[in-house]
Amino acid sequence: MTNRTDRNTNASVEIVEHPLVQHKLTFIRSRDTESAQFREVLSEISQLLAYEVCRDIATDKVEIDTPLEGMTGARVDGNKLCLISILRAGNGLLDGMLDLMPTAGVGHIGLYRDPDTHVPVEYYIKLPDRLEDRLCIVLDPMLATGGTATAAVQRVKQAGATRIKFVCVVAAPEGLGVFTKAHPDVPVVTAAIDRELDDHAYIRPGLGDAGDRMYGTK
Ligand code: URA
Repeated sequence: MTNRTDRNTNASVEIVEHPLVQHKLTFIRSRDTESAQFREVLSEISQLLAYEVCRDIATDKVEIDTPLEGMTGARVDGNKLCLISILRAGNGLLDGMLDLMPTAGVGHIGLYRDPDTHVPVEYYIKLPDRLEDRLCIVLDPMLATGGTATAAVQRVKQAGATRIKFVCVVAAPEGLGVFTKAHPDVPVVTAAIDRELDDHAYIRPGLGDAGDRMYGTK
């Protein structure tokens, strides 16, 4: 794992360089990977990223009995976590993470880019209560221009969240800059920072449109 701290904003960016993550990322980047396998391996990547993003979450002490003796163990309280998917590609990270943290709260945010103003417009939002008590993990596989991620995190803050992390699989340097400038307090965890955004706001080399790759749409 590589940790970067932006010198201007102090924002934290973690690149998960683990060989398993990079192997799986290469697999889903390939144009030859079909939707079913794409979804499956994206979900596996989400679980490996969850391992990093949850590295510093608090645990409660719990008294249990093993078959041999009593001991004090550790328990993660799902009430202190919230997974928030940015529709629709965020769902590709949500389910795998939810398998690991089945009691976490779940939220969804839908945003589209106004074709004239290019401003992200919210069309759907459903968030669990008590966001202020939770670490909110906002999910979108692709951090491209940064516009959607920035607006989604803004909305999560407005709803009361104070501790937020953003998880993606591939980030563009341009989008990362926009996001960390707007939200320097929100650490980013990603599997890769690619070369650039192209003129159509696709990340290069990237993996194409994550939602389309997941669901076989065009
Ligand atoms: N969203 C995607 O799914 N892919 C990109 O390359 C950019 C934005």
